[in-house]
This record gives sequence, C-alpha cells and structure tokens, in this order.
Amino acid sequence: MSVTRKRERREIEKIARERMEYLMRLADDVFLRDRERAQRYVEICRRLGMRSRVRIPRAWRWRICRGCKAFLWPGVNCRVRLRVRRQSHIVVTCFNCGHHMRYNI
Ligand SMILES: [Zn+2]
Repeated sequence: MSVTRKRERREIEKIARERMEYLMRLADDVFLRDRERAQRYVEICRRLGMRSRVRIPRAWRWRICRGCKAFLWPGVNCRVRLRVRRQSHIVVTCFNCGHHMRYNI
C-alpha cells in the first residue's frame, strides 16, 4: 500500500472510530428510556464498523452481545461477573440469548 493510501486508511479508521464511539454513547444515553432506539444506534454502529472494516472501540465491545447483537446493560439484560482465578476476566451473560462472553482484564 502506498504512503498516500495508508494515510487515507488511517483517516478513514479515525473517522469511523469517532462515529462509532458517538453512536455507542447515544445508545447508552437512550437505552433506559427507549431500548429500540438504542438498538438501532448499535445496528448503525455495527454496519459502519463492517463497512469500514474497523472494530468497535474496545471500551464498548462488551456492551454488544456476540450471540444476538443486543445492546447490553448490566443488571437489566445481562449479568457481569468478575473472576480473579488465574487470568482475571469478566464473564458477561446475555439474558436475551444466554450467550456467555469472556473478556480478559
Ligand atoms: Zn445475546
């Protein structure tokens, strides 16, 4: 890839990340009042990520169920458990589809 192309790619990634960050914050803001709207923001965010081939920002990744893609809210539609044996990690269980997700911390 040429230098110009690399620069363009970095620019696209930066813009995509910022927009995804913004959409996830919107979803977070609106979730308790309007879950459907929150879910729509998540869909837009995921589509944007796929189209630009940029991953969802790390801080937000665990908030989307890998099984059913629902926006997760601890105590509302998912459970978060901290495990400190061996490698410390959290286990997120989605109440919507029952999927378990493990994240090292
Ligand atoms: Zn799920």
